[in-house]
Amino acid sequence: MPHVQRHHGTGITAVVVGGGVGGIMTALECWRKGIQVRIFERSLKPETEGDFFSIGPSACKAFEHWPVAKEEHEATSYDFCLSYHKQNGEHIYGPVPLAVTTTNEAGETTTNTIRVHRHLRSKFQKVLLKQLTEIGVAIEYNHRAVKYDETNDKAIVEFENGVRVEADLVVAADGVGTKSFEVVTRKEVRARSSGYAIYRTAYPVEFATADPEVDSKFPLLPSGQSYAQMWVGPDMHMFISRTEDIFSWSLTHKETSADSAETWYGTHSKCTPADVVQFLEKTLGSCPDILRKVFNTTPEDHLVDWKILWRDPQPLWTSRKGRVVQLGDAAHTFVPSSGNGATQAIEDAMSLASCLEIGGKSNVPMALRVHNLLRNQAHRHHTNWGLVAQNPQAIKESYDRWLWAHDAEQYAYENYGKALQHLITGAPFKNTNAAPGYVYRAWNIDELLAKQEAGIPIEV
Ligand SMILES: Cc1cc2nc3c(=O)[nH]c(=O)nc-3n(C[C@H](O)[C@H](O)[C@H](O)COP(=O)(O)OP(=O)(O)OC[C@H]3O[C@@H](n4cnc5c(N)ncnc54)[C@H](O)[C@@H]3O)c2cc1C
Repeated sequence: MPHVQRHHGTGITAVVVGGGVGGIMTALECWRKGIQVRIFERSLKPETEGDFFSIGPSACKAFEHWPVAKEEHEATSYDFCLSYHKQNGEHIYGPVPLAVTTTNEAGETTTNTIRVHRHLRSKFQKVLLKQLTEIGVAIEYNHRAVKYDETNDKAIVEFENGVRVEADLVVAADGVGTKSFEVVTRKEVRARSSGYAIYRTAYPVEFATADPEVDSKFPLLPSGQSYAQMWVGPDMHMFISRTEDIFSWSLTHKETSADSAETWYGTHSKCTPADVVQFLEKTLGSCPDILRKVFNTTPEDHLVDWKILWRDPQPLWTSRKGRVVQLGDAAHTFVPSSGNGATQAIEDAMSLASCLEIGGKSNVPMALRVHNLLRNQAHRHHTNWGLVAQNPQAIKESYDRWLWAHDAEQYAYENYGKALQHLITGAPFKNTNAAPGYVYRAWNIDELLAKQEAGIPIEV
């Protein structure tokens, strides 16, 4: 079996809270960089919920160091072609692979075909979990973090079951409802409703192909490749996709309920195909017959109406004494249609582990601050997640070179020293992991929604 090359031991101990994509990848990358790591998760066992998400090219770079996981990641991911349609199903163009206008290294404009790996969340989690098991790190389930704390030389996390764990650092990778705000910002930045929700589901393809019309309208491509249709209309868009083993559909729509619980699980309610038909009849006046047929292939209890939550961006992810750091959705939220949440969590993991390795055991707080500085710029620029619910094609535009070609590990190695100088002496430092020419302006969700309401274009 191909071997993972582990770096020299650093003597650093790390605790990761949260066994999602961000947490597991952090545990893997920390282990690889010679850090002793433990990982805790509140659920009782691995969670298989969820449907599809995207892993962008920048995150795929993490697998270069994990040969077995890389092979499985390639084998389990889906390569989609996409066609675009009006909300009544009328064809606009496609199917086409995800091709984007971008720039090459010489700065010339070119059209590239960028492979974005689409993954069924449950399969991707399994790939990561298997890798974790292979290196001998086991997730400690049934540990719900309730409090993060720190001293000058230790980070502490307390769990609901009374267990208290200390380490050189604690990584809060506990998702959008993280309990780490008290120690990081001293004030909670609550996740709130974006005003949109998604009816979403994924199930074995046999349920869908049992209806001959659904089978023929949503075929695999002649090459056997997975095929998705995007139907776009005012204030809503729909994805219907078919792979060799999974059929999936989702409908992003405006939601009116003020309810916004703060966990992935708590943000959705079970619903039925009849609810979706009723919704379309109410908003569009009718529901196309083929959609009614698609909805009706959904197995019982497989459909959820998932509220999209977001938080105002906040630049600080590291606690005052530099012992606790937020990572992934705990640090920054992305709406699902931006296709960026899992990708950014993986990039965070690569950056954090590299900074810790460079800084060493005696410089953990500074390493966390450098990581925060190196990563923050990129996230601040991803304002596209504000408009994708309205204009999902914005995701295409956002795959510019600076974004997809980024190597978070190499970036940390190359920029750690300069970022450190900046933090210690105030020497000038400018991140380069941002759209060329872009000048950051602080923003918040209310501002974004007001612009959207007034029809003012939102900068991507
Ligand atoms: C069950 C589930 C299903 C998902 N399905 C989809 C999907 O279909 N499409 C999509 O785009 N995105 C989905 N996501 C979100 C997506 O995985 C994340 O946006 C992205 O991968 C970033 O990962 P993360 O590790 O930062 O956060 P998450 O993936 O949300 O992981 C956070 C982890 O922390 C755990 N946790 C939370 N609070 C605590 C606590 N107090 N103590 C200990 N552990 C805690 C959670 O159980 C979870 O395992 C899903 C997330 C989850 C948890």
